[in-house]
Amino acid sequence: MWCKRVSSIPAFELGQQYRLIGDEIGSAVLEILASGRYIGGPTVETFEQQFATYIGTTDCIGCNSGTDALYLALRSLKIGPGDQVITSAFTFFATAETISAVGATPVFVDIEPETFNLDVNQIEAAITDRTKAIIPVHLFGQPVNMTRLMQIAEAHQLWVIEDCAQATGATWNGARVGSIGHIGCFSFYPTKNLGACGDGGAITTNHPDLATQMQQLRNHGQSQQYVYESIGLNSRLDAIQAMILQIKLRHLDDWNAKRQTIADRYDQLLAPLPGVIRPQSPEGGQSAWNQYTIRVTPPSATDDRASYRDRIRELLKQQDVGTALYYPLPLHLQPVYESLGYASGSLPITEQVAHEVISLPMFPELSIEQQEQVVYALKEALNQG
Ligand SMILES: *Cc1c(COP(=O)(O)O)cnc(C)c1O
Repeated sequence: MWCKRVSSIPAFELGQQYRLIGDEIGSAVLEILASGRYIGGPTVETFEQQFATYIGTTDCIGCNSGTDALYLALRSLKIGPGDQVITSAFTFFATAETISAVGATPVFVDIEPETFNLDVNQIEAAITDRTKAIIPVHLFGQPVNMTRLMQIAEAHQLWVIEDCAQATGATWNGARVGSIGHIGCFSFYPTKNLGACGDGGAITTNHPDLATQMQQLRNHGQSQQYVYESIGLNSRLDAIQAMILQIKLRHLDDWNAKRQTIADRYDQLLAPLPGVIRPQSPEGGQSAWNQYTIRVTPPSATDDRASYRDRIRELLKQQDVGTALYYPLPLHLQPVYESLGYASGSLPITEQVAHEVISLPMFPELSIEQQEQVVYALKEALNQG
């Protein structure tokens, strides 16, 4: 059978964006190369100021990755052995990994199936006298209900570190995520909403004392040259990445608006498809749509959910539609966390959703024709699956 196809559609691609701003980036990077200032200096400081202004905080500290941002945030709050930190098990590993890396213990709370985010109503039951902090993850760009979360945190005197890695530009009740909790952690990994051409990250805060701590920790715990106050890291943002991020930051709102248009169009096109559950934004939240993640459920209740989902993905692949699987194995069931003692079934929504999710192609340049092709292919796949 012959079928008209635009071309293959990747889950994500950066080529078109680069063609738009490549010349500008190229000449700016050449200037940095000629300047001889590669680490620190005015280019990094200017980006830090611009990003703090964009997010709406007094301070921004550039660092080497989103993972380091989380680690540095936890360290600045002196969270360590014996402490517990509440977070989601349906997230990228780094969220929990950094809790463990500082010597503390992650405590996982189940999620809401509609938003894939921490179910804030289940947080209080998980608080003990060892709980020090909560890390809400704005997964796929969708903001967590920060009003309720901050109420709980204040009532129990807990720190809040927002994992904003997938949500640069998202807002909750008009405030950018990363400005609501005590600390915001961002990743500039190339596939994030604001992506560098390599690794990069940032931490935002309105607390100058925490900012000072994190500035020192990212630079070996150094308070003045060759004077060390603590055991830190070498985790700096370099000037080339900072320059690229300055240029891309000017486009971010436009790119996020395009992602919103694409999400709206997916919503419309997918509404008639039975067996497809679309992501929902909570009232008050503006998603940054890093991913558009649907859930598919098998027509027969006895079918295995994960193998049905995998079959649908394979059928999409055969029709040249790329998809992504975030995340197949929740963190509480990872081999490394066996010792925490979570049984299968302990986080039922997280576990169910992990068997149902498919992230559809999502990037600002995705065309209407490509989106129609994705949905056509999905319809075919559901018919055959
Ligand atoms: C990408 C990501 C991180 C880690 O960021 P890196 O820059 O890759 O280290 C942390 N948390 C979440 C939710 C992420 O998606």
